[in-house]
Amino acid sequence: MIVKVNCVCGKVFEKDISPEIVKNARGGVASVFATHEDHAVIIYIDEKFKVRGVEPVAIDPKDKELLMQGSIPLYYRVVPSKAKFPPMIKELGLISPEEARVLEEIDGKKNLIQLSKALGMSIERTREIVIELHKKKLIKIETLPV
Ligand SMILES: [Zn+2]
Repeated sequence: MIVKVNCVCGKVFEKDISPEIVKNARGGVASVFATHEDHAVIIYIDEKFKVRGVEPVAIDPKDKELLMQGSIPLYYRVVPSKAKFPPMIKELGLISPEEARVLEEIDGKKNLIQLSKALGMSIERTREIVIELHKKKLIKIETLPV
């Protein structure tokens, strides 16, 4: 479910929130971490997907720099943007064989370090490909739950 979030910076952004998170929320209000531009917030959301509050959270200055550069901090979780991709995205040339290999490994649980290990690929190369996949909106980046 896409919700509109009135961010602490004054801008509005959209965040895709899984119904499961809201369903399993204690006391009917779920807290969800999101990054927006160079900052991060916790979004409080009720079972009707209504945003009850938005609070800024501190992120590591190094992470901030990476986010600003369009890069991705190493321990941020990489999540597919769809449950299943049509198998023809590879055949149609929408992604390279290397990107397809990385995409196949992205299961929503691994961060960049774990991905690079699983792929036997350098962290820097993995990061480059993940950034490409992110630009193509095939994946999302999330921090691991605190
Ligand atoms: Zn913001």
